[in-house]
Amino acid sequence: MSSPSVENVVIIGTGCAGLTAAIYTGRANLSPLVLEGSLPGGQLTTTSEVENFPGFPEGIDGFQLMDNLRKQATKFGTRFEQALITSVDFTSMPRKLIAGNKTIVAKTVIIATGASPRMTGVPGEKELYGGKGVTTCATCDGAFYRKMEVAVIGGGDSAAEEALFLTRFASKVYLVHRRDSLRASKIMADRATSHPKIQMVWNSIPVAIEGVAEGAVSGLRIKHAQTGAESVIPVKGIFVAIGHIPNTQAFSAALEVDDGGYFVPQAGSQIQTKIPGVYVAGDCVDHVYRQAITAAGMGCAAAIEAERWLAEHEAGSGET
Ligand code: NAP
Repeated sequence: MSSPSVENVVIIGTGCAGLTAAIYTGRANLSPLVLEGSLPGGQLTTTSEVENFPGFPEGIDGFQLMDNLRKQATKFGTRFEQALITSVDFTSMPRKLIAGNKTIVAKTVIIATGASPRMTGVPGEKELYGGKGVTTCATCDGAFYRKMEVAVIGGGDSAAEEALFLTRFASKVYLVHRRDSLRASKIMADRATSHPKIQMVWNSIPVAIEGVAEGAVSGLRIKHAQTGAESVIPVKGIFVAIGHIPNTQAFSAALEVDDGGYFVPQAGSQIQTKIPGVYVAGDCVDHVYRQAITAAGMGCAAAIEAERWLAEHEAGSGET
């Protein structure tokens, strides 16, 4: 059986980080191979309009933006392949990526697998997600809820931050938490609980999102943690902020991840892993900014580093 050809650069993921890395490595004539997972285009394809990506003063549809990036990457010679990586072998050169019974080999690898927002799983959430009132990103969608009442679900820093951000637009923000105190840092918790537009809804477990029949969110049904009594908060927007799950499981035996599952880059770098020629970019490593533009920036940086690494090792020393 013939051995698979060795790729210059394999990029795993088709979100902003992965496709930006593809544009840069493609334009550097490296003929990148991009591996597509289960959500081609990444998280942005699930939002409606993106108003804060630089260069689009009228805003741009999330799906359209990702399609544009894909076309731009294709124009510079990027190849796409459907493959869900299940494990890797980074112990020798070239690096090996395993997708089921297929092995892909590469000199350099850019991992841009993103993160999936953790969801509550209550009835109505899936049906009304993305443009129908349920969202996971206040920075992306907050401006659509001007002068409306909205709810944020969660009790950590993300929930507090989302609630505070939403006070710029919404007439009132309900911060719904299943306990009687926030787990957020004290400064964020103090800011949220003392804000005149934020009403805390303690000891409340989300049980359903109402409005499926109408095709738009009309309220959040909650159950009191102690009494079990149910009630409905009438809101038009629901922001789920109960954490993210970075898509790093397939790599966690080979690369360092933190307690939350995020990749831990080498000290002094945002993208360099402990394995030479292997980089991480976007939401699988960044749990602070998590923006399309910051992911794109990391993808660009990873591409430039991969290009430099290849230039330095092109003599074929086989160094690992
Ligand atoms: P987090 O700290 O894990 O908090 C998740 C919150 O969601 C918890 O309060 C949890 O409740 C609640 N929750 C989980 N599952 C739930 C469910 N099914 N239904 C209802 N509530 C549920 O996540 P995070 O807030 O995204 O923060 C992640 C990390 O990023 C943290 O280290 C945080 O400090 C950091 N971060 C920092 C900043 C900042 O510094 N500006 C901003 C955002 C995030 P329980 O409390 O009951 O577990």
